[in-house]
Amino acid sequence: MKRHQNLYSNKKARTNLRRKLDDNSGRLDVSAVVTYVHTKNTTAPDKWKVIRVADLQIRQAVMEGMYEFPCPMCGTKMKVITNVAHYGPYAAGVKPGYRWVCPSPGDCDTNIGCHGKTYVPLGMPADYDLRKLRQECHKMFDILWKTAGFHRPSAYKWLAKRLRIPVSECHIALFCGDMCREAIGILTGYIRKLNRISDEEVEGV
Ligand SMILES: [Zn+2]
Repeated sequence: MKRHQNLYSNKKARTNLRRKLDDNSGRLDVSAVVTYVHTKNTTAPDKWKVIRVADLQIRQAVMEGMYEFPCPMCGTKMKVITNVAHYGPYAAGVKPGYRWVCPSPGDCDTNIGCHGKTYVPLGMPADYDLRKLRQECHKMFDILWKTAGFHRPSAYKWLAKRLRIPVSECHIALFCGDMCREAIGILTGYIRKLNRISDEEVEGV
């Protein structure tokens, strides 16, 4: 209990974070939050501290309706609901938890998963097409680091360099459609090249 109080009463960390989260209009900059929470380049205990402060602030802000969180596709104010409410009680394979969804009565269908206890979004909300592109991108990325001998952090560095973006911004959950297509092209090309090399090695034996 004492440890929690110490973490949450870290005034300097809170002030720094608020500067990062606010863009003066009281809107939540989701990209800044996700990038900051996932990639703060500090030692592990400090990183944990920052995440806990961020969690508390964002949760409070969401609960109090302090921040507007507009749908990036249509501008409607997004809502947090349970996964079950979103997918329906009979959908297969639905994990317990929450997600931000666009409640627009049209066919916007933009949403993003979030941390269950804090409501921190896991990325930039995406519509159906973008979700499919990100899934494809994740699939190719997993092949790269799981089967091509990359460590996961090195694989992100490798991809960031080829996409010409800082590694702190190299999260597939933050990619737009164009970025996904470019990443898929890079990953597919490289994996094909690796396969060709191993085929030649096998044939050479
Ligand atoms: Zn929308």
